[in-house]
Amino acid sequence: MKITLSSVLLLLVTVFFAGTCGISFAADNFTIAVDPGHQLRRNNELEPIGPGASLKKAKVAPGTRGVVTNVPEYQLTLDVSLKLRDELLARGYNVLMIRETNDVNISNRERAAMATEAGADIFVRIHADASENSYDIGILAISPTGNNPYVSHLYAKSRALSDEILSATVSATGAHERGVLEADNMSGINWSTIPVTIIEMGFMTNPEEDRLMQTEEYQRKLVIGIADGIDSYVNKRSE
Ligand SMILES: [Zn+2]
Repeated sequence: MKITLSSVLLLLVTVFFAGTCGISFAADNFTIAVDPGHQLRRNNELEPIGPGASLKKAKVAPGTRGVVTNVPEYQLTLDVSLKLRDELLARGYNVLMIRETNDVNISNRERAAMATEAGADIFVRIHADASENSYDIGILAISPTGNNPYVSHLYAKSRALSDEILSATVSATGAHERGVLEADNMSGINWSTIPVTIIEMGFMTNPEEDRLMQTEEYQRKLVIGIADGIDSYVNKRSE
């Protein structure tokens, strides 16, 4: 093929516009595992908190509950995750849902394994927060530390994923930003084999945030924020 000046220009213009429009080149080859936290019934059986760990934790913790609405965390995380699934599919991603109903029994270790087996690129775990202080409010993301004994090799990407989702979610919702917590005691993070984050969408123990998280409008903002954060992460990775 004869390379002409005009074909080079056309290529440059195409790349320029795709870049400025924020189009993700990688979305259709990118799989996101979405884990709606918790489930209908807790599972108090124990499992190691990471590969080779002697410390064990319950397979599935009960989660929290809305102080005003009385909605359980597992229902809120499922409601938002199903909307997130639809938004991510509309943006061209492949999505693996760890669960689409509440009546399941899948441990945190098993959730991480499902994401691995599906060949997912990132693992996004959706939770809501609780505190003894009813004034505590806002959004938090959780990443492993750089010294995590199981997944330190995933630290940089997990931290970047956490930062991107936190920042986009805060800007979409206007919620208070609580920052990224680095923690090594989360089984679903420690068993992951791909970059992983937990997004704590807000406090169900805060009356205002509990009510807000039950509105369609606020759930939509959360979904757009999480999806925008994933877009930023993917676009920076593919540069
Ligand atoms: Zn939770």
